Parts: sequence; C-alpha cells; structure tokens
Amino acid sequence: LPPIEGDFYHLGDEALKDEDRALQLKVRAFLEAEIKPIVNDYWLKAEFPHHIIPKLAELNICGLTYQGYGCPGKSNLMEGILAMEMARIDTSISTFFGVQSGLAMGSIYLCGSEEQKQFWLPAMQQFKIIGAFGLTEPEVGSAAAGGLTTTCKKNGDKWIINGQKKWIGNATFADVTIIWARDLEDGEVKGFLVKKGTAGFSVEKMMDKMALRIVQNGLITLTDCEIDESDRLQNANSFKDTAKVLKMTRAGVAWQAVGCARGAYEAALGYTQTRKQFGRPIASFQLIQNHLVEMLSNLTAMQTLCFRLSQLQDQGLLTDEHASLAKVFCSLRTRDVVSKAREVMGGNGILLKYDVARFVADAEAIYSYEGTKEINTLIVGRAITGFSAFV
Ligand code: FAD
Repeated sequence: LPPIEGDFYHLGDEALKDEDRALQLKVRAFLEAEIKPIVNDYWLKAEFPHHIIPKLAELNICGLTYQGYGCPGKSNLMEGILAMEMARIDTSISTFFGVQSGLAMGSIYLCGSEEQKQFWLPAMQQFKIIGAFGLTEPEVGSAAAGGLTTTCKKNGDKWIINGQKKWIGNATFADVTIIWARDLEDGEVKGFLVKKGTAGFSVEKMMDKMALRIVQNGLITLTDCEIDESDRLQNANSFKDTAKVLKMTRAGVAWQAVGCARGAYEAALGYTQTRKQFGRPIASFQLIQNHLVEMLSNLTAMQTLCFRLSQLQDQGLLTDEHASLAKVFCSLRTRDVVSKAREVMGGNGILLKYDVARFVADAEAIYSYEGTKEINTLIVGRAITGFSAFV
C-alpha cells in the first residue's frame, strides 16, 4: 500500500530548508512517541498532561519567530508547519502551545517594553513561566473590540482592575495572565501582566466541555485587583495593539485547522485500507474513494492557502483580512474533512480510540475561537467592499 501522507503536493519538502525540515521531523517524532499514546486518555479525563511541558521546552520551538530574548528567530512558515504538526496529533496540545507561544508571549513581544520583554520572554520560551491571554468575557465575545466591560483605573502608580474573563486557556495553572481592560479615564483598552496569586484575582475551571477537553479553560474574576504600573504592557495603548497580536495568532489557527483535518484524513485513510466489507478493503469502493479524494482536495487547498499566508507574513505583507480569510476558510473546510473522516469509519468513527471522534469535537472549537466564522467574514467583507457591517 502507498504511504499515508496528507501533504499531497509535497509542500513541506519543497518549502523548508534542510535544517527546518529536520526540525519538523523531530517535532513529529516527539508528538507521535510522547503525545499520541496518551492523548485520548487525557482528553477523556479532561486533564492536562503537565509532565510533557519540560519535554516541549527541550524542543526549543516556543516563541519560534521572535528575534532575541532566547527565541529561535525562525520563519512564520516554519511556525505554521509546526502548529500543523501539533494539531495533526492533538488540537488541545497545539492550543496549549499556541496560547503560550502566540497569545501570551506575543502580547509581550508586540506590546511590552524592552524591560518587560527581557524579564518575561526568556523564561516563557523555556516554559519556566506559563502564560494565558484574557480577552473574552462572559457577556462579550465577538464584540471584544468595542465592548469590553472589564475596567482599569489608575490610582497613583497602581491600577485597579474589575471584571470577568471567560474561556481563558491555561488560566487554571498559568503563572501570568495577560488581562485586557478598558481604562475608565480615556476609554482605551490596555493590557496587564497579572501574576498568579495576586489579591482579587481568582480562576474557576470551566467544566464539561465537549471539545479541546485537555485545554484547561478558566473563568477569571478580578475584584479590585491591584496591579503595578510596571506590569502594564507599556506599548498597548488601544485595541489596535491587541489586534496586532490577534492578526498573528489567527494565522496560526488557520494552520492548526490544517493539522486537525490532516490528522483526521490520515486516520481515516489508514482505516479504510484495512477495514474489509464484502470481502474487500472498503478503500477499494468507489464511493469511499470519492469521500477520501474530497477530503484530500480540501486539505490540499487549505495547505496551499496557508503556505501563501505564511509567505506574506514572512514578507511583512500580512493584513488582518489575509489572516481572517485563511481562518474562515480553513476552519470551515476542516469541519467538512473531519465529518467525512468520521463517516468513512462507520460506527468506529465515534469511538475515541480511533482518534477521529476527538478531531470532530475539537474542530468545533477551532471553528469558534480567535473570531467566529461570521466575525472573520465581516473583517474580509469590510476590506473588499469598503463598508463595515459591524455596528
Ligand atoms: P458570541 O460573540 O456570543 O457569538 C455567538 C454567535 O453570534 C456566533 O456565531 C457569532 O459569529 C455570532 N455573531 C456575533 N456578532 C455577530 C455579528 N455582528 N454578525 C453576525 N454574527 C454575529 N478567549 C480568550 O480571550 N482567551 C482564550 O484563551 C480563549 N480560549 C478559548 C478556547 C475555547 C475552547 C473557546 C471555545 C473559546 C476561547 N476563547 C478565548 C473565546 C473565543 O475567542 C470566543 O468564544 C469567540 O470570540 C466567540 O465569542 P462568544 O463565544 O462569546 O460568542
């Protein structure tokens, strides 16, 4: 039988330098050896496998694209490919990594002062400090740009923060959470480094999620939480600065969707080659091949789109609408791929041990976080028509 390979156009082989290709294969080998065997169990228990953190640190891939501060300074393409590799094995682990490396470290890298970057980034790169990113609120998700109700108020060289944050990944065990809050004085959104154990800062684990069960999402409450001015992100002056972080991480989420689809496609292809009905492998039936080819077409379209997206990013040409279009397209197509993967596996498609059921559930979270389909669509719509549909 031919090898099972979800990179049909050999994009990985073509685009990466030898050393980057070697890194990709090293990360893949780690994920297959250390993560794949344990992931269904942790998913079922809704627990995070903390013992993998030092092993992830050893790979030296956190903060992959940042220059300086102990970070590797590699290309955005390489980072996208590694996000894909992680999600190909498990979307939760990829999300844990994305929150640490992208949302939390990215906020500091893009919005922190030199002193803040030097203090936080090297330790976060090594996972000695775990980060979280608190933007969404119980009553404000899609409308975060204009609607944040968490407030901050300056009082001498301190800030007083009040409000709630919902869905915050890694929050239950993070050492530091970036909290975005609206300044009661000038009305602008500002970012704060809130350390674990700060008085007035509490986190409750969100229970009973049906997707990304390994990711520990928290409901955060801030009650007269006092933060030093030195822990305010010094270059976060309005939501425009928050949006710079989201533009970068949305591109990563598009790649994550590719990985989720690829993991499901590869599992389904392998299954159909060995599962026999009517005395033949089901992969030999025309209608099953039709499903597989549709999956591969979607997967290949997503991969090529993301390659171009990362090239634009590496050339400094990435816009919000580029990132949004990729996020919408990939999260939509991924939903289609994982559901077809489940379909060709018959009843076994809903059993956790065949992996695809987890990809089906996790694709739903990818579909909604980092901007829903509607919100990212309206960002692209605004760019191409010149009319904003947002109120
Ligand atoms: P809502 O905003 O209430 O939207 C509900 C529906 O209404 C959606 O279909 C939406 O598209 C639609 N809608 C809203 N406005 C419009 C409009 N103008 N036009 C048309 N349709 C509209 N947030 C963080 O800050 N940090 C995290 O680490 C984090 N991790 C997450 C992890 C998971 C697993 C999940 C599910 C979410 C996470 N989020 C996080 C939050 C996530 O970004 C939000 O769920 C997302 O932005 C959508 O917000 P909402 O859930 O409040 O939905």
